[in-house]
Amino acid sequence: MLFMTRIAGVALFLFGALVTFERKLPYWGYEVDYGEYHWVIGIAMSCLGVSIVISSFRKRTIEEETGTLICPSCRKPYNKQDLQSTDCPECNVPLEQVEGFYDRHPEDE
Ligand SMILES: [Zn+2]
Repeated sequence: MLFMTRIAGVALFLFGALVTFERKLPYWGYEVDYGEYHWVIGIAMSCLGVSIVISSFRKRTIEEETGTLICPSCRKPYNKQDLQSTDCPECNVPLEQVEGFYDRHPEDE
């Protein structure tokens, strides 16, 4: 899904670039005139395409950076960005992803 969003963003950017430089574009035998301000439309399309691609990457980095880890021993949650390592500072055991933690440890629920 994320991959498709990026492809659409790149396609929109390329199409926008084309409209920026060419006022008239042929479509299967028809010619579409984007008018005097075709470059405004083109630049807007390109910007939209670029922002779609950038936000798709940014979304992923935020998810990776703000992931929460939980200690299987003391049950304390930690933010990934606050940690020096992926071990619990108090118990010295490897921390686990919060996502699915209670599925892996059903006895703690
Ligand atoms: Zn701990």
